[in-house]
Amino acid sequence: MKTSADIQRMCEEFQIQMIDFKMTDIDGRWRHITIPRERFDDDIFRYGVGFDGSNYGYAPIEKSDMVFIPDPDSAAVDPFAGVPTLTMCGNVCTIGNEENTPFDQYPKNVSLRALEYMKETGIADRMVIGPEFEFYVLDKVRYQVSPEFSGYQLDTRQAEWNCSLSVPGNNGYEVAYKGGYHASAPQDVGYDLRSRMCLAMEDWGIKVKYHHHEVGGPGQMEIEVELGDMAEMADNTMIIKYIIKNMAAAEGKTATFMPKPIYKEAGNGLHVHMLLFKDGKPVFYDQNGYSGLSREAHYFIGGLLKHISSLCAFTNPSTNSFKRLVPGYEAPVTIGYATSNRSAVIRIPAYAKAPETKRFELRNPDATANPYYAYAAILMAGLDGIRNKIDPEANGWGPYDFNLYHLSAEEQKKIKGLPRSLGEALDALEADHDYLTAGGVFPERLIEIWLEKKRAELKEIEQIPSPAEFKYYYDL
Ligand code: GLN
Ligand code: MG
Ligand code: MG
Ligand code: MG
Repeated sequence: MKTSADIQRMCEEFQIQMIDFKMTDIDGRWRHITIPRERFDDDIFRYGVGFDGSNYGYAPIEKSDMVFIPDPDSAAVDPFAGVPTLTMCGNVCTIGNEENTPFDQYPKNVSLRALEYMKETGIADRMVIGPEFEFYVLDKVRYQVSPEFSGYQLDTRQAEWNCSLSVPGNNGYEVAYKGGYHASAPQDVGYDLRSRMCLAMEDWGIKVKYHHHEVGGPGQMEIEVELGDMAEMADNTMIIKYIIKNMAAAEGKTATFMPKPIYKEAGNGLHVHMLLFKDGKPVFYDQNGYSGLSREAHYFIGGLLKHISSLCAFTNPSTNSFKRLVPGYEAPVTIGYATSNRSAVIRIPAYAKAPETKRFELRNPDATANPYYAYAAILMAGLDGIRNKIDPEANGWGPYDFNLYHLSAEEQKKIKGLPRSLGEALDALEADHDYLTAGGVFPERLIEIWLEKKRAELKEIEQIPSPAEFKYYYDL
């Protein structure tokens, strides 16, 4: 636990001039407000800093006064600020007469309540997760509104790093179409940039597991970090994305986590590994179970698979998310689990054998999710599975030890698919969300606001003529 004396020491040591507070909006974007160091005192940890919550997407205008309370433990020097700046994450409260109360829709509060709920059920007292960060680094992308297409187009034609994207094949020493997996120099031109991103993460206190070029054409990258506690990992997800985007920007490039930025290339996932502990013991391990997994782990998987369609409304909450969930790119398309199978939505890594590392990964999530809501929703679905003993095998969800991209007509009838659009996922959420609102973890109001907001987004995007429509219909 850092005290305010520690913060003052950091201010001295790094000659800090500004103190910056980072808050998360409903979509999972960081926003910030900054105060001069001279205005910073102990009161701020008690009374916080007031701001207008209505612009963050969750509070109505008539109740928009909120306070941000910084968390001293999150203090770090912001490496991207020219003026020496100390930055902090924290929590958001609504203003009461006596005490401020944590705002029930604020992303961090939802994730903290999910962890409290987990403890109340007696199932576990710790959730450990490991998200994997996939992204493309592109030359500065120009979004054009071109009169011919009346739509938005991603123009990568003059891209310096990414010039083979439009030409499948191997252009000399460039990474080829879908040929980037673990590419080495000289093709891996992003190595130094990626290393600098990782060093910035280490400086911020985040332990990196490894980094590499990903499968996609030039510029698809991946950074994995060591697994950690869910609440901390949700904050770290924000920090990691911030570092990746800012490092790329510092070199005149852009980093995008968009699930499918390029047609017919590998998409960007945010696979999430997970395991539970109770009294220091791993809940998911049983050496005699399928793939070394306990009954509880199976039920947790059962809960995830039962609710997967509605879960997608939080783990894959963009129209673009569903352009990634198509066959052929190592992204999942069907509801099922298996060991070592990257076409299944739940994969049990064969290499994680020790009891305290025994886990599985959920492969559908992507980084358009608000990490706090997504991780909380994942936990709630899994806990529902354990509480109701939802057996994935008895439900016909696997284990499937074959390539789920190539199903016979018979298998296609048996094996259900993931939602094919944001609209389907939102309808599923409307019909199935009791597992989220259990114990007051997701407020009903948040589910309503989310559906309203995402449906409005969907409607707008559906009404914009797409370039592909011109291809098919312009000359008809
Ligand atoms: N990019 C793939 C996805 O969309 C994953 C590829 C991999 O990690 N091997 O999920
Ligand atoms: Mg990985
Ligand atoms: Mg990967
Ligand atoms: Mg993975």
